Amino acid sequence: MSKKVVIIGGGIAGLSAGIYALKAGYEAEIYEKNSIPGGECIGWNRKGYHIDNCIHWLTGTKKGTEMYEVWEKVGALSDDTEYAKIDSFYSSTHNGKSVTLWNDLKRTEKELIEAAPEDEAEIRKFIEYVEYSKQGLFPAGKPMEMWGLKDYISMGKTMADFPKVIKEFGKISLEEYSHRFKSPLLQKVICDYLPKEYTAYSLLVSYATMADGNGNIPMGASLQMSLRMEKKFKELGGKIFYDSPVDKIELDKKTATGIRLENGKTVKADYVVPASDIYPLFNKFLPEGYMPKEVKKAYDDPKAYPVISGFQIAFAVRGEFSGSETAFVDIDPIKIGTRTIDRMYVKQYGYDPIFVKDGKQVIQTCLTQYDADFEYWKSLSKEEYDRVKKELTSEVEKRVLAAYPKFEEEIEILDTWTPLTYERYCNAYHGGYMSFVTTPLGKALTIKGKIKGIDNLYVAGQWTNAPGGLPVAAASGKFAIQRILKSEKKDINI
Ligand SMILES: Cc1cc2nc3c(=O)[nH]c(=O)nc-3n(C[C@H](O)[C@H](O)[C@H](O)COP(=O)(O)OP(=O)(O)OC[C@H]3O[C@@H](n4cnc5c(N)ncnc54)[C@H](O)[C@@H]3O)c2cc1C
Repeated sequence: MSKKVVIIGGGIAGLSAGIYALKAGYEAEIYEKNSIPGGECIGWNRKGYHIDNCIHWLTGTKKGTEMYEVWEKVGALSDDTEYAKIDSFYSSTHNGKSVTLWNDLKRTEKELIEAAPEDEAEIRKFIEYVEYSKQGLFPAGKPMEMWGLKDYISMGKTMADFPKVIKEFGKISLEEYSHRFKSPLLQKVICDYLPKEYTAYSLLVSYATMADGNGNIPMGASLQMSLRMEKKFKELGGKIFYDSPVDKIELDKKTATGIRLENGKTVKADYVVPASDIYPLFNKFLPEGYMPKEVKKAYDDPKAYPVISGFQIAFAVRGEFSGSETAFVDIDPIKIGTRTIDRMYVKQYGYDPIFVKDGKQVIQTCLTQYDADFEYWKSLSKEEYDRVKKELTSEVEKRVLAAYPKFEEEIEILDTWTPLTYERYCNAYHGGYMSFVTTPLGKALTIKGKIKGIDNLYVAGQWTNAPGGLPVAAASGKFAIQRILKSEKKDINI
């Protein structure tokens, strides 16, 4: 009889672990607290409109990359996948002037130099380093501890220019980097997309992913992608149990014997793969004492290891946008949580018919929230929370209309959600939907997958490799199974 892998969480990491476990010849069962798969990679409907929670870009859509192979194996992407026709990363407007980061780097270079000739040298350097960053691909073949000399040599060849990016942009934050530009508009461009604490190379790699055609958005959006993975898992013989929150991992000395659900039921396992947020793993599923030192250090130092979330609103509007689908604009300062915010993005979703109804399209905003903001939301009573959320929604709507007066005629609020939504829905630490932010003050946190003191438990999920995201989640599921195979001295090529 095959050995059984029991997986906690049916997000992208859990589904991936399940699919790879089945491919490797194990039985696989997933226990998920919610009633649908996907975790953070989902969408939902309000007033007849679809709201997307996740994919702004999906790293690994370029065929021939290791990450594409993972997406293909788990059924997320295939030759038939259609992608949104989007030709830019985002645009930034400041003091009435706008520029766009096009997927075409030459076009961007020209446009930025026209807008800020005083920064020509820095702009050319930016474009040159984004070009190098196309080589900064996430290695999704196998966990790095299994790499041999050949793998390092091959990486050295394919990533020859990438070390230059790390050398130049690996030790400064986006905020520091922005000061190399004289133009206030270009300073905004650099700090608009990712929180300004991020290490600068993160922006270059993200932009390079788009510019290289390796970060497309699959049509049908996030939930459909998760459902395709769920289908694949079930087709291969996997069992997924919804509305089944896990309470504990059962231990017998150094062996995880299975899991206990919150309803008291126990499930036996040969291997346990926690694929949820790691906060419940170390503070609820396992007894005290298993949290690795470096993880504790990260939780204890939110300045070096911030966790980000968002205050988000979806609207339905009638009217055509011009320019980039994702546009950052100046707004009248607004206090959300503990932060006063003076920039905001508006993303239009009309590129996919799933977001269009009766000629109106969904647009969304997301205002970044940090650890302290989470604490603020958490401190409110239910009545205060509802009131503040409503008031802020109305304030944000005013700012959307100030930036896009043409929507005045027909704008409808569809939904508002906060960092607490992610905590409630996914048990996400501080409502965070990526792993710890990689800042120059901290180290990019990685967890090897094995927990000291437990022989048959292999961690998956985006928190295993900062800064997280979908590719990390999917690859981590595969890595967990490869680690199991390795422990049994079996072939890890699945
Ligand atoms: C607004 C937003 C935008 C994003 N944009 C992008 C993007 O453009 N590109 C990108 O790459 N990434 C993006 N992300 C991040 C991406 O969604 C996550 O990195 C990824 O989905 C994490 O997957 P995961 O499986 O590791 O974790 P999760 O999605 O958190 O899955 C964990 C699962 O475990 C379940 N669980 C938790 N506790 C228990 C329990 N006790 N018992 C049973 N089940 C439990 C949860 O319900 C959940 O389903 C975005 C996220 C958000 C929210």
